[in-house]
Amino acid sequence: MPNPSLLILPGDGIGPEVMTEVRKVIDWFGTRRGLAFDVSEDLVGGAAYDAHGTPLTDATMEKAQSVDAVLLGAVGGPKYDALDFSVKPERGLLRLRKEMDLYANLRPAQCFDALADFSSLKKDVVAGLDIMIVRELTSGVYFGEPRGIITEGNERVGINTQRYTESEIARVARSAFELARKRGNKVCSMEKANVMESGVLWREVVQKIGDEEYPDVELSHMYADAGAMQLTRWPKQFDVIVTDNLFGDLLSDLAAMLTGSLGMLPSASLGAPMANGRPKALYEPVHGSAPDIAGQGKANPIACILSFAMALRYSFDRGAEADRLEGAVQSVLADGLRTADLMGPDGGSPVSTSEMGDAIVAALETSLN
Ligand code: NAD
Repeated sequence: MPNPSLLILPGDGIGPEVMTEVRKVIDWFGTRRGLAFDVSEDLVGGAAYDAHGTPLTDATMEKAQSVDAVLLGAVGGPKYDALDFSVKPERGLLRLRKEMDLYANLRPAQCFDALADFSSLKKDVVAGLDIMIVRELTSGVYFGEPRGIITEGNERVGINTQRYTESEIARVARSAFELARKRGNKVCSMEKANVMESGVLWREVVQKIGDEEYPDVELSHMYADAGAMQLTRWPKQFDVIVTDNLFGDLLSDLAAMLTGSLGMLPSASLGAPMANGRPKALYEPVHGSAPDIAGQGKANPIACILSFAMALRYSFDRGAEADRLEGAVQSVLADGLRTADLMGPDGGSPVSTSEMGDAIVAALETSLN
């Protein structure tokens, strides 16, 4: 069997800095766990624009389509702000998402015990929290037609259209059920079936897929506004939440912020299964290129390292090794190690990006004892 393949796109700003730490982790799994990857690296975003005049070359796009998973750092920066829209760094990322047809966006909200004080909610509400929001990413009101601003009589009217086909709902529902089977075996689907026809269809299709294909997974439904309340009241009642593009945009930000810093948040975007059964997949931290701290060794590499943990779990079926990596992160935080973004008001001395990466690798090593 050939090694699984991984395309690494560090990108701009702190992207390459945090990716250097992920490479240490990947190398550790290769040498110490016999989990070797065929890793290739390429340019995306401003870095690709500087080298090739485009934020993503066709060759890189082709490579992304052919590997088992793509891991991206971050793109963008003030240097590129004046560029034409068509060649801005973010276009590289959008092209990847669009051409790989990544319709399921996975945003975990996981609270590491050592950081429970960082949340704006009470510690006992968030400590130990581990939920996953699955947001439909390629359809819904952000894409539906008709759209635009038209003039009716003597005033203007803004129009967007919420539109979902049965197959679009079914495929993201399947992603959520599959994930639930690898986690706590529970899915809660959120829509507004009380006021929107698209919500009625959403609920019917999710229920049908659940009944026919995933009877072993516990399924519930909730109106999205009630879901937002429940997420802040008692988020631990959820395991996997599946919802549409618009509600998912709001609910995933809400859920992510239950847990604290941007430097801690990973994400995955998954598409249809490839011939080998693995889904098309792009893993990336939620944060951007952080130009304000780029090049200073201050970036927190944990979001990107946890994105690789998601790749281990969802692309490579190595849930136990993903647990090991998340456990290593948990243990360095419990030991009190903090990058600058995780320092509380009491101060203390932060560790650098590479010190955090090294500590996580050391904790991985300790996990073998
Ligand atoms: P940002 O996420 O880059 O930074 C917001 C704040 O969080 C900054 O103060 C930054 O220092 C801090 N921060 C972010 N990640 C951190 C980390 N790992 N460790 C420590 N601190 C961290 O968002 P922004 O400032 O709005 O955008 C900067 C650039 O990044 C822009 O060009 C934007 O378009 C781009 N961007 C890219 C992505 C992406 O690549 N997916 C996402 C968001 C923004």
